[in-house]
Amino acid sequence: DEDSDGYSRVLLKLGGEMFGGGSVGVDPDVVGAVASQIAEVIADGVEVAVVIGGGNFFRGAELQQRGMERSRGDYMAMLGTMMNCLALQDFLEREHDLDTRVMSAIAMGQVAEPYIPRRAIRHMEKGRVVVFGAGTGMPYFSTDTAAAQRALEVGAEVVLMAKGVDGVYTADPKTTPTAELFETITHREVLERGLKVADATAFSLCMDNHMRILVFNLLQEGNIARAASGAKIGTLVNT
Ligand code: UDP
Repeated sequence: DEDSDGYSRVLLKLGGEMFGGGSVGVDPDVVGAVASQIAEVIADGVEVAVVIGGGNFFRGAELQQRGMERSRGDYMAMLGTMMNCLALQDFLEREHDLDTRVMSAIAMGQVAEPYIPRRAIRHMEKGRVVVFGAGTGMPYFSTDTAAAQRALEVGAEVVLMAKGVDGVYTADPKTTPTAELFETITHREVLERGLKVADATAFSLCMDNHMRILVFNLLQEGNIARAASGAKIGTLVNT
């Protein structure tokens, strides 16, 4: 079974809201805890790339509702993701002595390298954590889509989708107590049942290219390493 052998290269997608610990800005306790979990994955010899959202700062669609131009709002939001990336880099390097490279989809040479796919791969081969910032660099997209695209381009075997819930359920467990957790599900079935794993653009990119998605609970300590090791946690979306 391919799962039990674990993965050799993973792409971890973290939502921005978690980084903020529920408010605007960066919560050092959360970032520290995530950095510790990532350090475990590196210690296990798994190559790691990370994409972080920006919902703890801005979302372009929300700024648009308050009168701003959509694309400008999206750029502001992409810049927000960079602050999360730098915070994670700080904890990884300072507390875990892990070489970390932030690569930005928007040029900002003083704080991040440009996104160069082959260089990203080289960093990972050397055991460095690569953190992809500024999403795809394009308005109207999401960091989920950046995660799917980067995973495909740098040859990750799975997108590890970190959430605040255990995985994908038959229905919303908050409103439907009988909701059951899927251990595995196909991309097609996710669509047929109208379940939400990622936004439509990100999800179709994964489906079209047979990219696995593991939805799992970030809030349980050690879960990122478990997910990367191929342990049966969360919900695996596979073709
Ligand atoms: N964004 C964008 N293009 C991208 C990635 C992100 O325009 O390629 C903007 C968009 O406004 C988005 C915001 O950045 O709402 C934050 O990203 P996302 O909503 O994916 O963050 P998360 O929900 O994961 O925190």
